[in-house]
Amino acid sequence: MEQLKIPDKLLLLRKIYSIYEQYTNSLDLACKKGCAHCCTRNVVITSLEGILIYNHFKANADDHSINKIRKFSHLPRFHTQLTTNDFAEMCMKGEETPDEQGNQVTGRCPLLKNETCTIYDVRPFECRSLISNVNCRDEGCAEQDPFSISVNTVFKQFIEHVDSSGISGNLTDILVHLDIEMGKGDDLKGGPVADNLIQNKALQILLVQPEHQEKMQPIIDSIQQIRI
Ligand code: SF4
Repeated sequence: MEQLKIPDKLLLLRKIYSIYEQYTNSLDLACKKGCAHCCTRNVVITSLEGILIYNHFKANADDHSINKIRKFSHLPRFHTQLTTNDFAEMCMKGEETPDEQGNQVTGRCPLLKNETCTIYDVRPFECRSLISNVNCRDEGCAEQDPFSISVNTVFKQFIEHVDSSGISGNLTDILVHLDIEMGKGDDLKGGPVADNLIQNKALQILLVQPEHQEKMQPIIDSIQQIRI
């Protein structure tokens, strides 16, 4: 992955999104347009996903969105301490993993307008993977089957792997960081990691439950067969 340039990595990321869309299209989900119950300030993204969103702002001469993100960046939001591949590595070593769920905050995503995502085509994976079999607003929370949870983890691991020299963090922190860094060239180097942003890791081991392995293999093959 290291040898790929950012435009190739972005192409790869879009192809991974597209494979995931094929998977979700095969499900009977309650999620639909205008349903934004899950659009909170807790979304975590990789820096490559941030570049995709940031390029979208630039291509549409949209200064308003980044200004809005910066304007509300004083508000509390979720900060993760571990990437998905960190988590997988700890599981592989039999280490205890922290439970970060309690660190979630209430509050709406700054990119939500009239209950609609303003960056829907380039929304990050965490938003794509917030799928539910039931209406979250009615039921109080989303409901996902165990296989979909495994699928989401596998996709997150590959998405982090594509951007293994990059960083991860809350959507607001990544986009503010990019807004500062982009002035220095479009190839985001690892560099010093700002507060609340963490270094991504290459994929060491895929976290797939033994009972899901056979059904998961065609999905893994599709991702590994992507050619740029
Ligand atoms: S980026 Fe879009 S889909 Fe994701 S939380 Fe924000 S408004 Fe919702």
